Amino acid sequence: MINEINGQINNDLKNNKRKKCHAFFLTCLIGICIAAITGCSIGYEDYSASGTAMDTILTANIRVKGSENGQNVWNELLGESTRLEQSGLSRRVESSEIAAINASAGSEDGYPLSDEMENYLELCLELSEETDGAFDISIGALAQLWNIDEAAENPKAFVMPTDEQILAALAVSGYEKIKIEDHRIYIPDGMVLDMGAVGKGIFLGEAYSVLKESAISGVVAAGGSILTYGYKAGGNDWKVGIVDPFDTSEVIAVLSVEGSGYISTSGDYERYVEYNGVRYHHILDPHTGYPADTGIRGVSAVLTAENELQNGLLSDAITTAVFVMGEEKGIELAEKYGAELLIVRDDGSVYMSDGMQKMAD
Ligand code: ADP
Ligand code: MG
Repeated sequence: MINEINGQINNDLKNNKRKKCHAFFLTCLIGICIAAITGCSIGYEDYSASGTAMDTILTANIRVKGSENGQNVWNELLGESTRLEQSGLSRRVESSEIAAINASAGSEDGYPLSDEMENYLELCLELSEETDGAFDISIGALAQLWNIDEAAENPKAFVMPTDEQILAALAVSGYEKIKIEDHRIYIPDGMVLDMGAVGKGIFLGEAYSVLKESAISGVVAAGGSILTYGYKAGGNDWKVGIVDPFDTSEVIAVLSVEGSGYISTSGDYERYVEYNGVRYHHILDPHTGYPADTGIRGVSAVLTAENELQNGLLSDAITTAVFVMGEEKGIELAEKYGAELLIVRDDGSVYMSDGMQKMAD
């Protein structure tokens, strides 16, 4: 049908010069219609998809550049999450670099690090120092002992660790025992590294790089961790809901985020088990060996995405750290890294940094 119209226009052009101009515009118009009908590029393609990755739900709503293809960009995002998990970060996957490092525990030769992993680990160690060990990726043995991830799925499988077991797990933990030298890492016997607190943030950092190449704007979410990229069409801010820890079907705030940013949340409601009337959750205090208990139920942080890779990891690490450190020290930490902070306290009251308050208005 559209070809017929084009044919008609071509005939007119042969016979009548005056119609040339009109025909040109008509052809352009038809061209635009064809593009709109087929969804092909007139500068962009709106693309939405969701799937499971990194133990959580991954979603993307992106405006892809006209030169790209939405499905390909989505595949790239999925591929990145699989690569990070399978060959990088998961302590449970034998083929991953973290699993190999863990297997090298106690070895005098240590383990040779990829540049990428070395960067991530150095940042994590910096965070450990800044938080006096409240954030510590060397608590893997403790995380394995509590095994909250599994207990959250199957509460009957939960076994309360004994104090001796907790002390033994703490004895093989401690970031200050990790040595990185000449691109090799040395960890002591029994130590287990666990990147669970930063995996989604690292992924979103990589997602930023993917979108920078292929998209005009969009949102990528890995569970409750979110990347906003670019400026939404129409000039409106991105709207990001923060879950109410007291009723996870509700939001406690809706943030207006301008431009690119990482929004991350840690809470005692995400993975937990109830045992003898007590809630045991997955964010552990490396000083006590027990789930952190500092009067906080949920922490959210927003960091700009300007420094893409680093800030994805940082926003994720900061929320875990603040949860463990408590409000006072947590606020100081967030300020140091330029993160806006929202804390939901045990009594339901809410703290927001000034910048966060503006976003929530
Ligand atoms: P979620 O993964 O639910 O978003 P977090 O980002 O807060 O929550 O990460 C929690 C995970 O981090 C735990 O499942 C565990 O693997 C790891 N972890 C627990 N406590 C600590 C800690 N004090 N420091 C670093 N990592 C931790
Ligand atoms: Mg985290």
